[in-house]
Amino acid sequence: MKNSKFTSLFLLGAIILISSCKDDSNNTGDPSTEGSTPLSAFDEFNPDAVTISFDSDEITIESNGLPNHTSPYWAETEPLYIDPVVATRLTPGGIGSRSITVTVPSAPEIAASTTATGLGAIGISVTGVPIFNDQEGDNRPIEEMIVETFDYAGAHNGPSGYHYHVESSDVPENTVLSHDDEKLVGILSDGFLIYGRKCNSTGDNPIDLDVSGGHNTSTQHSEGDDFYHYHIINEYYLGSIIALFAVDLQGTPNNIM
Ligand SMILES: [Zn+2]
Ligand SMILES: [Zn+2]
Repeated sequence: MKNSKFTSLFLLGAIILISSCKDDSNNTGDPSTEGSTPLSAFDEFNPDAVTISFDSDEITIESNGLPNHTSPYWAETEPLYIDPVVATRLTPGGIGSRSITVTVPSAPEIAASTTATGLGAIGISVTGVPIFNDQEGDNRPIEEMIVETFDYAGAHNGPSGYHYHVESSDVPENTVLSHDDEKLVGILSDGFLIYGRKCNSTGDNPIDLDVSGGHNTSTQHSEGDDFYHYHIINEYYLGSIIALFAVDLQGTPNNIM
């Protein structure tokens, strides 16, 4: 009995120690305010494609993948079809309805180590289209031949459907998507939001980003509260294109199904 009591006390001490260390290392202060994703950000999501469900400590984002903008990847009979504006060649197939779902914590945390992203969806954009990284296949980064197939939205079609890889083009047809501004781009699989190249906290391209393009400041959605979020990193990836997210996640990824 004495032993088990001692063990309990020891464990309690260890838990307190771990808790206080964790608070210090994250340096985020009160997690109930600064660590939570501002819920008003979800008003930015395309309501025709995306359904958001709030649980006490989780948020589920479900999309049918159909964007609220024009593209040559729509079928020609669809109202949002346009002839290509920037793409010089199209990948086979087109925009079609499907189901993309991810559940993330409402107060995501920085993990002890970063995680590389994989092929397939790494996040869901405000339009409902999945966000992909800078890879087009195993060990095949985006190259000139792939860039040719991107529409002005920075997207093309693949075996799993229509998806974004890069920042949208600054063309008159583009009325929805972020281009070197502070618009919300979407949410990544670790639950952190990703914004355009500029930050509302300064109105400019941030210069205090970590290796993942993240920092802890306010945005237009947080009423002055600081919280961790990513930005599109303001660097050319290939030619004049800018990857949406070609770095590692700072949080713990959740499955996008
Ligand atoms: Zn692709
Ligand atoms: Zn920011």
